[in-house]
Amino acid sequence: MAVPKGTKYAIIGAGIHGLSTAFHLAQSLKAAGRGSGADILVVDKTAVAAGASGIACGVVRNNYFQPAMRELMAHSVDVWESDPKAYSYHPVGYMQISPEGMHEDVASIYQQQKAIGYESVFIEGAEDSAKYMRSLFDDWQAKGITSVLHEKRGGYANNRASMHGLAVKAENEGVRILSGVEVLDFEFGSNSGAVTAINTNQGRIACETVVVGVGPWVNKIWNLLELPKRITVKDLRGKVHEDVPMWKFWCLEEGTLGVDPDMHKTNDGRFPPVLHVDTDAPLYSDRDGKLITDKLWGIYYKPDFSFGGVQGGASPYKVDQDADQVAVDPYGPESPEFVVGDDFIEMWCSALAHCQKRFEGKMPLYRRDENSGGLGCFTPDNFPVFDTFRENVYVIADSNHGYKMIGVGKLVARELTGEKSALLEPFRFARFAKGELHPTSHSPFPWS
Ligand SMILES: Cc1cc2nc3c(=O)[nH]c(=O)nc-3n(C[C@H](O)[C@H](O)[C@H](O)COP(=O)(O)OP(=O)(O)OC[C@H]3O[C@@H](n4cnc5c(N)ncnc54)[C@H](O)[C@@H]3O)c2cc1C
Repeated sequence: MAVPKGTKYAIIGAGIHGLSTAFHLAQSLKAAGRGSGADILVVDKTAVAAGASGIACGVVRNNYFQPAMRELMAHSVDVWESDPKAYSYHPVGYMQISPEGMHEDVASIYQQQKAIGYESVFIEGAEDSAKYMRSLFDDWQAKGITSVLHEKRGGYANNRASMHGLAVKAENEGVRILSGVEVLDFEFGSNSGAVTAINTNQGRIACETVVVGVGPWVNKIWNLLELPKRITVKDLRGKVHEDVPMWKFWCLEEGTLGVDPDMHKTNDGRFPPVLHVDTDAPLYSDRDGKLITDKLWGIYYKPDFSFGGVQGGASPYKVDQDADQVAVDPYGPESPEFVVGDDFIEMWCSALAHCQKRFEGKMPLYRRDENSGGLGCFTPDNFPVFDTFRENVYVIADSNHGYKMIGVGKLVARELTGEKSALLEPFRFARFAKGELHPTSHSPFPWS
């Protein structure tokens, strides 16, 4: 395959971040009279949607304990809503259903959603929460719930369809997207240290600016850019931690119950919001009644025709290996190592049955014919880094919240054309050294 000898903007990775940046950058260049999509080249070592964006559950929500994340998500929801058809976006809403230990955190999320004008309803108390849930699902039976946050916006999008929709929009702006082109290393300027070219398996491409949107492969590209493998992190109490690994992996666990998606509708026959349930009520196996856990657990789920059933997931688990040793390839369902197993299936199906009677006895219908789940690469505080390194390399490392963050590419495009973004400011790399980390919540999920 012939690669061009040079390009103004080289974008590595055709997932949500690379493609959204490409599309919005093409528009920004055109609007400013400074160029067009023809100045942008996207390369992907496999193809559009080959990474995490192509296997993600696709949940789009605002519910984050961290104010900066909420504002960023509100911006991203605007982008999803701007072209639901092309993005294959289903604006069904989202519900965070929580136990008492998370009540205060979620109450503050609700207050701040009101402050930024993000529409939601907050129900408090065990009785009122149960009543609200039963008004939507008459078989609701989850225990240990004392609050319900119902976000009226958000929902989910179909992973691969949305990536292809975004790719078409970028190509219509004149962007070139090349599959099967893997970046193997970078050439650096002799004086500045900036990147002057990317060397790929198909040849050298000189470039003026590089955008990195490689999802779970970020550790590899970070090493090629000779960025620090271990860093100093000042925590929120001011304590300094030396020699912290910059990257760590978690395995995200998701799967599909092979039921008719139509069986999971609301009492009035509508498609329901995405449900996210966290509780500390003991979870018993729906197969043999044995205790699975008496610790805080959480799941999320939605009916989804593209997955062919009710699809969702549970908390991820930490991969206990040095980032350089983790086998990211083959990725996702192809991985021999990082796909879900029996423990996840038993837990998630039992948790569905714990929440709604309609799922009792349905574990045998779990889709074992398809592998699911996949790796995510996380920063020390589990929140994204959006920043410029080596003068001309913009790294979008989303730390695995990223499918929903379609708006980040739009903001990055603005930064590349000279307009600083206040929404991206809290996600700079310097926050680790400065102690400006994002606050953590009581959720069992590292990214909430
Ligand atoms: C199972 C699972 C479920 C998830 N569910 C959700 C969800 O519901 N909601 C949500 O918001 N987030 C979710 N996420 C997280 C989300 O999918 C990721 O954060 C996001 O998709 C990352 O997007 P990206 O564009 O950075 O990377 P990716 O989509 O991974 O794309 C990176 C691309 O870079 C290419 N690439 C890598 N290295 C090179 C190289 N050297 N040269 C050229 N190309 C290269 C890859 O081939 C790939 O196509 C989920 C993740 C997983 C694993």
